[in-house]
Amino acid sequence: MSGPVESVEVFTLTLPRDTPYLGALRPGERANAQGYIVRKGNRTVYPTFDRSVLVRVKTRGGTVGWGETYGIVAPGAVGAIINDLLSGFVVGREVDNPSAIYDDLYDLMRVRGYTGGFYVDALAAIDIALWDIAGRQAGEPVSSLLDGVSRETIGAYVSGLPEPTMDKRADLARRWQDRGFDAFKFATPVADEGPAAELQNLRSALGPQARIAADMHWNQTAEEALALIAAMEPHGLWFAEAPVRTEDIAALETVSTATAVPIAVGEEWRTVWDMRQRIDRCNISIVQPEMGHKGITNFTRIGALAAEHEIDVIPHATIGAGIFLAASLHASSALPTLAGHEFQHSIFEPNRRLLVGDMDCREGMYRLPTAPGLGVEPSEEALELLQPI
Ligand code: MG
Repeated sequence: MSGPVESVEVFTLTLPRDTPYLGALRPGERANAQGYIVRKGNRTVYPTFDRSVLVRVKTRGGTVGWGETYGIVAPGAVGAIINDLLSGFVVGREVDNPSAIYDDLYDLMRVRGYTGGFYVDALAAIDIALWDIAGRQAGEPVSSLLDGVSRETIGAYVSGLPEPTMDKRADLARRWQDRGFDAFKFATPVADEGPAAELQNLRSALGPQARIAADMHWNQTAEEALALIAAMEPHGLWFAEAPVRTEDIAALETVSTATAVPIAVGEEWRTVWDMRQRIDRCNISIVQPEMGHKGITNFTRIGALAAEHEIDVIPHATIGAGIFLAASLHASSALPTLAGHEFQHSIFEPNRRLLVGDMDCREGMYRLPTAPGLGVEPSEEALELLQPI
């Protein structure tokens, strides 16, 4: 043991991007003073840069663990929750059971209804850092600490084709196919010619064997979603993701019980409770937990519930330095019904330099980092980019 937690520090890590996430600005889209853009296709805000929140937890014995959560907007909110509230209840704790600490922290604000949002994002960052410490203390990768199956590689699907035209997006997908990837996903809000035409074009470029999914970004009513899915279905749709607004469970029930196309949801959920109330009513084929929102503790519980209901798990991968991606790979590797993992190549490749470790994604497969703990940590360059909150 390396003793109790001595300190918890919070930082932002910001990086410029050559091309904004989801591609170059479209007509009518412009960055505001904060560098935020609203994508017309899904009415959602994104930064024109990459930014996440990193947490560094140190024990009295000198073990350091790193965590990460969302920082794409308002990173100070997560920082304030950690600095003002959570840190004081983590310092002094032994790190022999991160899940018990997670549950203690979660319960602190339950009576006030804080069961999601920035609060649970903050918990996720701390949870990941505590699991990193637990692994380092044990001298084992985090994956070895988790019950379940054991994988060293995980199938990766190429997500995000940030090019301005349908043909260029198909060319980009083809280049990844040439590099050994056989599964892809496009985003319907930026499919300028319509989702069916986009899928048809990708299908003719990638061939009949390629798996191609559509991320529908929660942007439709049930009727609209079903019409779009019906138009895409003849071109071979692997799964339809986030077809309706996340709050509208009735619409998800309508869509998921009316189509034979597999429905995938769940990146935005925070806890297993978000999942429970949907799987009871809806016909969900795939859940997509996002580590940066859930932490290893919650992610693992969602995976267990998915296995209980024979639902596949294909985790989400988001914008960040990659500490939460490493955590996601470790937690994913133990899940009984894992069926792949998202690969955000336009973030992973340029941001490789931010991490030290042997985490990799090539020839269609993620390679889990092998060193103790998460097996990755910020590089010298990343450490210099950290801004304390
Ligand atoms: Mg998505």
